[in-house]
Amino acid sequence: MGIINKLSPHEAQKIAAGEVIERPYNIVKELIENALDAKATHIILYIQDGGKQSIRCVDNGVGMSEEDARLSIERHATSKLAKIEDLDTLQTFGFRGEALASLCSVSNLTLATQMHTASHGIQLTFDYASLVREEIISRAPGTDITLNNLFGNIPARKKFLKTRETEWRAIYTLVQAMALAHHDVAFTVYHEKQLMLNTHQTTDLTERIAQIFDRSFSEQFLEFTSGTTKDILISGGITHYQYQRYDRNQQFFFVNKRWVKNYKLSQAFNRGFQRVMPPGKHPAGIIFITIAQQEVDVNVHPRKEEVVFLHPRIIENALESAIQKRLESETATRIQQMEPLKPLQPTLADSLPTYNSQARHPFFEQPPFVQPSNIIQSMATQQIIAEPSIHNSLVFSQIESTVSYTIVGQLSKTYILLETSSGLLIVDQHAAHEAVLYEQLTLRAGATERIQLLFPEIISLQAESLHTIIAFASELEQLGIHIEHAGDNTVAVTQTPLMLKNYALKDLIHDIILWVEEGGSFDRQTWHTKIRKKLYAMMACKAAVKAGDELSAFEMDELLKSLYKTEHRLTCPHGRPTTWLMSHYELERTFKRKI
Ligand code: ADP
Ligand code: MG
Repeated sequence: MGIINKLSPHEAQKIAAGEVIERPYNIVKELIENALDAKATHIILYIQDGGKQSIRCVDNGVGMSEEDARLSIERHATSKLAKIEDLDTLQTFGFRGEALASLCSVSNLTLATQMHTASHGIQLTFDYASLVREEIISRAPGTDITLNNLFGNIPARKKFLKTRETEWRAIYTLVQAMALAHHDVAFTVYHEKQLMLNTHQTTDLTERIAQIFDRSFSEQFLEFTSGTTKDILISGGITHYQYQRYDRNQQFFFVNKRWVKNYKLSQAFNRGFQRVMPPGKHPAGIIFITIAQQEVDVNVHPRKEEVVFLHPRIIENALESAIQKRLESETATRIQQMEPLKPLQPTLADSLPTYNSQARHPFFEQPPFVQPSNIIQSMATQQIIAEPSIHNSLVFSQIESTVSYTIVGQLSKTYILLETSSGLLIVDQHAAHEAVLYEQLTLRAGATERIQLLFPEIISLQAESLHTIIAFASELEQLGIHIEHAGDNTVAVTQTPLMLKNYALKDLIHDIILWVEEGGSFDRQTWHTKIRKKLYAMMACKAAVKAGDELSAFEMDELLKSLYKTEHRLTCPHGRPTTWLMSHYELERTFKRKI
């Protein structure tokens, strides 16, 4: 007897459905897309148990006739595509005519719908693809689809559903994306009967952002529309670099209004912010790429989540430069609007530097790191040219390596004021010292003294995160951090580099976990480099003089000399500027000596 069985159409459909529908959020996506295709202006979602128990989507779109409602759950039943040539000009989200059939085969589905012109509608009730009831009803025009007991008939698949929180988070992120791309549609979302999102129709993206996210996001949002280069239009916006997050949860990319995930696009986005974002911090951005249909293939993936561009580099470069341009123009405007420098306070004279060897910061007593002399030599002889960046071209003057200066004094125990040939140079003593120490640490890579902590830092973590960090124990060890599993879901940090001690260890560990969990596509070496940079930045921050530390003339001079020798001296490792130049020209203009 042969061993090949032909699956019944019903079984085959269940398997095929699994390909498109893996998780509740895939269902929500199909339902929202259908509602948008039906020209709905208000979409309401009711989610229970992260979508595992039930998902309901109500829209006020065109609705379906009785006949169409019956057809809609058949496979390859679509009103959106009649022949294959239509694909090129298609403007709708769906076209395979598979979604409703698939949803119906893996859940108990109820479909109620009524057309705007009709006096009554129809309600169909299915029990895993078999029609159990058909009723004539009267309801508001539009469509209402409810799914219950997802995968109740495929236990193997149900097992793979994640926790309520994880499934809910995926749904919520999706709804945020949908709501951003369609701000002309109102979205209302309930989870477990709680109102989670309520947006009204708007013509303005920034207003939509304010409806979905916190105010600080919308307030720092800089909209833009790039000119079309080679038929690419990049629009949407980004946040000013002062807006910084620990995660990338507020970065959304859309191609022809479809939400997509594309690693190369994210990288181009990051490059746009290079040198203005501190390591480990992320900006927000809502990026819409509009491009000819022939230039992009969204059908490589059955769920249409991935895109393949015909000319990816052109798009990546266009995105990167659009971001840079927007940041530059914003910076230029902010400088123009800046208040003129206030007259120097008389208190400055009181705090004029005096040589005071007692009150010195340990850094000046004995440089913590004696660099190999060849490095110092090569740094001294090398003409250091800072890379062009938004900072030094527009905002922060560079200290030229040949310039001489006179120390005017210390302001508010925070800034060092210098007279230079180009004007008044203000140095943030903490940021400057951080930049110096950070570079020294980087040059000495790894050779840091470590200490045993008297009181180990105990950090409790989620089970998943615990595994992640334990797997990185040997990398951390190389950086001077010793961690041990301390029972339950906790780790103990017992050894750290001397300059770090207990400082912000929790933050560091959480950051590492976040990077590892986020960046599936990075290799271990990349992580190692990132973690090391973060660690050095923290150590530099900890060891640097603080705002409020009084510095003697000698100390200021030492710091400035070191700063001059530092290659990346324009920003501290967190991306803050170290220096600010008030040029002669600006001074003269401020005092109306020159118009
Ligand atoms: P597709 O969207 O690929 O056409 P679906 O299975 O998602 O396939 O839907 C099948 C058909 O059912 C659609 O082409 C559309 O005509 C109809 N339909 C589905 N959802 C709605 C809705 N919310 N409002 C109106 N018509 C709908
Ligand atoms: Mg569809």
